[in-house]
Amino acid sequence: MQFIEEEQKRIPVCATPDVLVVGAGPAGIGAAIAAARNGAKVLLLERYGFLGGNLTIAMVNPMFTFHDVKGRQVIRGIAGELVERLIDLKSSLGHVTDLTFDNASMTPFDPEGMKYLLFKMVQEAGVDLLLHTWAVGVTRADSQVTSVIVENKSGRQAIVAKYIIDCSADADIAAMAGAPFIKGREEDGAMQPVTLFFRIGGINMANLRVWMKNNRDLLKDSPTDEEIDSSKALAFLGLKQLVKKGMENGEFPKDAAPRILFYELPQEGQIAVNATRLQGIDGTNADDLTRAEYETRIQAWEIHKFLQKYVGGFEGSYILDTGAQVGVRETRHIRGDYQLTEDDVLANRAFEDGIACGTFAIDIHPPEGEQQIFTGSGKAVYEIPYRTLLPQGLDNVWVAGRSISATHTAFGSSRVMATCVAIGQAAGVAAADLTKQGEGNVRDVDVAALRNQLIAQGQYLLGIPDNQLVDPALALNRGEGSGTTASHYNPFKDRSHG
Ligand SMILES: Cc1cc2nc3c(=O)[nH]c(=O)nc-3n(C[C@H](O)[C@H](O)[C@H](O)COP(=O)(O)OP(=O)(O)OC[C@H]3O[C@@H](n4cnc5c(N)ncnc54)[C@H](O)[C@@H]3O)c2cc1C
Repeated sequence: MQFIEEEQKRIPVCATPDVLVVGAGPAGIGAAIAAARNGAKVLLLERYGFLGGNLTIAMVNPMFTFHDVKGRQVIRGIAGELVERLIDLKSSLGHVTDLTFDNASMTPFDPEGMKYLLFKMVQEAGVDLLLHTWAVGVTRADSQVTSVIVENKSGRQAIVAKYIIDCSADADIAAMAGAPFIKGREEDGAMQPVTLFFRIGGINMANLRVWMKNNRDLLKDSPTDEEIDSSKALAFLGLKQLVKKGMENGEFPKDAAPRILFYELPQEGQIAVNATRLQGIDGTNADDLTRAEYETRIQAWEIHKFLQKYVGGFEGSYILDTGAQVGVRETRHIRGDYQLTEDDVLANRAFEDGIACGTFAIDIHPPEGEQQIFTGSGKAVYEIPYRTLLPQGLDNVWVAGRSISATHTAFGSSRVMATCVAIGQAAGVAAADLTKQGEGNVRDVDVAALRNQLIAQGQYLLGIPDNQLVDPALALNRGEGSGTTASHYNPFKDRSHG
């Protein structure tokens, strides 16, 4: 490989916040709003021109998952508030039953409403924003990250913050500071595939419902007429055989997911499609990302054509938009003071330092092979320990969001967006607490007090009595999860439909 020497430069310090939050995805939003509401001077840094991370940039939909199998809302706080305000904006119908996978609820939303609302919420909280800006480096002294180097149209600058919450999803700050991490799966580093989400508009939903009733055998768990008619937001999963044939005869992209999955959105005639797929992509490698962008965009067009040909309601439809970037499911997991495991998730483990709940099943789109793995479905409600946010060797940095310290398998559950907001909220409150104290490092936080604060600010944690907030409509009557990788639990089987 060829190298050049770069001249050393003196660069200006452009900001000195108490707390720098890097990345404005679900975790970064939770972190920045929580830290600012609790009195810290917060700067939120984001490489794109709007907020939301996968909620908006990659257009991932719906949010998973706020409720456990009993219909108990175990993610509340800032994530819960977001949903309430989206409903007010008519940008979400709120929590609805998930007819595809065995989650008690799913929360579809309009990404444009989300973009608007996130700006409102950070503005109301008094968060300073720096958009169109990449974090590209750090300086470090002993166990402290002393500055984050950023680049944007104004040039190369430094931000000197007392505390940093790394919500870049790739643990960029921790990695650049030399903290240890693993990428993907422990044994071989393989990562989940990437997917470009896209929205289709102009669908005749009434015709689609009729088509589903006439072709229920092509759909997972063959939903009944009543289920199709009564679902506030359709969730569509199936067409496996048709897709297989399409892959063989060139009508369906051969690298894409071997089935069709989409969700109805709040705006009439719109769906979000989760069906493109590419394996072998490292989301921290620009060449890989480049290939992923064009290959999945081509897939999206072919998948739309396929839907128009085979599924009712799509005749007059069109691709409304594609994500601003391909959705990257998995890259780095930091090595933290504790590593969340599959056993923690499946055993419903609570921790003395639990700071957020997770209740989504372990959902792995495997790095090879076709079959999506959905394990321990819905029986799990576990806590995420504070220690999973603490990168080894660093004293003033938290990592929040999908790159917390977790195994590839446990991450299959903890990665979802509602959980990431909750994790971010906890990091934000912790950062504000240390700022108020005027000293201390991330391991000095009084976690018992932090837990109480989170509860007082609307979050739900295990082991602390509360009013449970059970929504009977979302309660699923399931048996013990099998813990195997077999087919999905069928929520319809356990319900009576009169
Ligand atoms: C294809 C796909 C389907 C999924 N399906 C679902 C689903 O149906 N429901 C669900 O709830 N979850 C789903 N997930 C999981 C979920 O979207 C992510 O795990 C979650 O968004 C992670 O949140 P985060 O805040 O850690 O990171 P992200 O949402 O990735 O946000 C990270 C933010 O940091 C910014 N950033 C990154 N690096 C830098 C840098 N160096 N400098 C400045 N800014 C930076 C990014 O631009 C981004 O805004 C899916 C994910 C994918 C990829």
